[in-house]
Amino acid sequence: MYGYTADEIIGRSSYVLIPEEKWFEEPQILERVKNGERVQQFETQRITKDRRIFDVSLTISPIYDAAGDIVGLSKITRDITEKKQEERRKNDFIAMVSHELKTPLTSMRSYIQVLLGRAKNNDDSFGINALTRANVQSKKMTNMIQDFLDLARLENGRITLTMEVFELDELMKEAAADAQFLSTAHTIRTMGCEGIKVKADRDKIGQVLINLLSNAIKYSPKGGTIDISCTREAERVKVCIADEGVGISLSEQKKLFNRFYRVKNESIKTVSGFGIGLYLVSEILQYHNSKIEVESTEGKGSKFYFSLEMC
Ligand code: ADP
Repeated sequence: MYGYTADEIIGRSSYVLIPEEKWFEEPQILERVKNGERVQQFETQRITKDRRIFDVSLTISPIYDAAGDIVGLSKITRDITEKKQEERRKNDFIAMVSHELKTPLTSMRSYIQVLLGRAKNNDDSFGINALTRANVQSKKMTNMIQDFLDLARLENGRITLTMEVFELDELMKEAAADAQFLSTAHTIRTMGCEGIKVKADRDKIGQVLINLLSNAIKYSPKGGTIDISCTREAERVKVCIADEGVGISLSEQKKLFNRFYRVKNESIKTVSGFGIGLYLVSEILQYHNSKIEVESTEGKGSKFYFSLEMC
């Protein structure tokens, strides 16, 4: 697989098989194996004798002696070049389709808005009602397409952050107004975010908020209040989005952030979605050295929170 003969490689450090930019992973893996953990299907890259880099999946297990002490480790490396290429092609396809769908949808949305303005001027109540609904549905579609585009970019490692300093309160109010527009049955309030500045990718954090808020709406079928709050904690600000919806059981809470994961529950079986929103939220926050957390009681509601560094 690597192109070396036995004579050339036996006795040399295994680092010669690892591209330099992946060297940082080794101590982390060793640490985990030293603690008796088995590392399974760890995807990374390796390098051949003629300097060709290829995709691999590793399984690493500790080897114990009779006394139960770890005396070595076994590493199995599988070449997954083809699988990775297939994934890249799939992601490129999703990115292309999402991108192509965005342009006509944007133009449709502007026509809807112009017509809605006219219907309002003419006091045309049927027109107002129908176009308001069309406006909401097309907004939902725009959000979904944006999620798909980001999923594809993320999977292909093409997400880059554009960091800027901005007022958190402004972004919160924009996101709250956007989400409020999706539902009249819910009251969305923001509190405690005034005067806080953060350095982050404004658009991406906006997308995190929209995903969390549209979930809060989707999974609170009876309506209720949705609170967005900010709490200062030393150098960071903790952002919390709390709803009064169906809640999530403890066992489900661990799986929510997996790609394509959706909870199977009678009360929400008609709610549509692809199970990518929370995966994206979690990945975007990881890029910001933050993480998404959840607290929830079934039947009572859920709280999702994360923190950002303040300026
Ligand atoms: P989607 O909403 O498209 O299914 P997400 O990744 O956004 O995908 O969410 C994954 C699952 O987590 C949802 O299917 C839902 O069951 C659960 N969930 C997310 N947010 C909430 C919430 N605020 N309250 C209750 N359940 C939620």
